[in-house]
Amino acid sequence: MSQGNPLERVADFDLSPEQRLVRQTVREFAEKEIAPHVERFEREAQYPTELIEKLVPMGLIAPMIPEEYGGSFSDVVTYGVICEELARIDWVVASVVSVSNSLVGGSILRHGTDGQKEQWLPGMAQGRIITSACLTEPGGGTDLGNMRTSGTKVDGGYRITGTKVFISHAAHAGLLLLVATLDRSKKHKGVTAFLVDPQSEGISIRDFPMRTLKRDNIAEVHFENVFLPDSALLGTEGGGFPVLGSALDMGRYSVAARCVGQAQRCIDLALRYAQDREAFGQKIGEFQMIQQKIADMVCRTEGARALVYRLGRMKDAGVERASMEASIAKLTSSEAATNNALDAIQIHGGYGLSEEYEVGRLLLEAKALEFGEGTSELHRKMIAEFALGIRKQ
Ligand SMILES: Cc1cc2nc3c(=O)[nH]c(=O)nc-3n(C[C@H](O)[C@H](O)[C@H](O)COP(=O)(O)OP(=O)(O)OC[C@H]3O[C@@H](n4cnc5c(N)ncnc54)[C@H](O)[C@@H]3O)c2cc1C
Repeated sequence: MSQGNPLERVADFDLSPEQRLVRQTVREFAEKEIAPHVERFEREAQYPTELIEKLVPMGLIAPMIPEEYGGSFSDVVTYGVICEELARIDWVVASVVSVSNSLVGGSILRHGTDGQKEQWLPGMAQGRIITSACLTEPGGGTDLGNMRTSGTKVDGGYRITGTKVFISHAAHAGLLLLVATLDRSKKHKGVTAFLVDPQSEGISIRDFPMRTLKRDNIAEVHFENVFLPDSALLGTEGGGFPVLGSALDMGRYSVAARCVGQAQRCIDLALRYAQDREAFGQKIGEFQMIQQKIADMVCRTEGARALVYRLGRMKDAGVERASMEASIAKLTSSEAATNNALDAIQIHGGYGLSEEYEVGRLLLEAKALEFGEGTSELHRKMIAEFALGIRKQ
């Protein structure tokens, strides 16, 4: 355990020396190689391809992809540390890692055929293939059992028609994880997962303008009678929910870890400012009301971090489904990130909203994490249902 700064001592609690070394290495890398460029990419709405490429030689692009496919497979807690430290500096770079490793890579590893693993995983591990998850539709993202994007079985494959919206990375992706229904009347049991080459005929990817994360080039993806061969089916027909279910535990874990990173960044920025800015002849960090905000930010972050790493340890111990713990970690950490951004902005006064400071940008980016991988309402509903015994793991 480190003996230095008391915040670091708490943050490092119970990580192994190797995991602490990974934290230190990723933090230094992200601060040096990524941080100086993020604002420019955002201002220019430019996808940070050159920053993502820097992850590859560091072994950070594929921490959950096994070595036999070229990944740098690590334990789940280490993966969380990587997501946390990357997200502390950049939402988009961290998102590339978490979508590819948790949602898409995890689904292929669990449900893919040998051919699918060989077709997709090496390119993902080399950073050649960026991935996107196409779940949300214009009619809603929470009620996935009611989706409209539909597929029809034809000779040798399927024909898919429909629209997905809010899709991160789609404009730059080499692989789409798509869910579509083969029979709407079956609700959840009709939903089916596919691995889709975005170059397939009939797919068009258009800008989906957002007020935040312009550097992610978030897109809508249209499928017009797209032919997918049988080999694109991931899992079984109607087996899309089990594919998503097992992937979402890990997806929520990595998003929760990213939220902890953002919450921590808000603390770091607020401390720096509170120790420097003066009012009424003293540092603003000496005012009790500023200290109260700092205390709240630290408590939220430490609580969320403990929940995230508890979930990581459960996964490392081989717990296949930990949906309640995943919901608790995701809900707590995403709300911590948003509330920390609000407090950090308040500590910065009006400068919190000036372009000179990073902290204002973090608010909408944190808020976005309250939607992806399940909204706060969905997680509250699930946690209550688990507690009431209405829902089982
Ligand atoms: C920055 C960003 C990136 C994203 N990236 C992706 C991506 O890569 N891929 C992808 O597929 N999607 C992505 N999304 C979409 C995200 O997953 C959806 O926004 C989310 O699932 C919610 O869907 P919705 O926005 O359609 O809201 P709706 O489902 O329409 O919900 C609207 C409101 O109703 C609430 N609500 C819905 N059902 C219930 C219920 N049963 N009980 C209580 N409240 C309920 C919701 O919590 C929400 O507050 C992204 C979103 C953002 C903001």
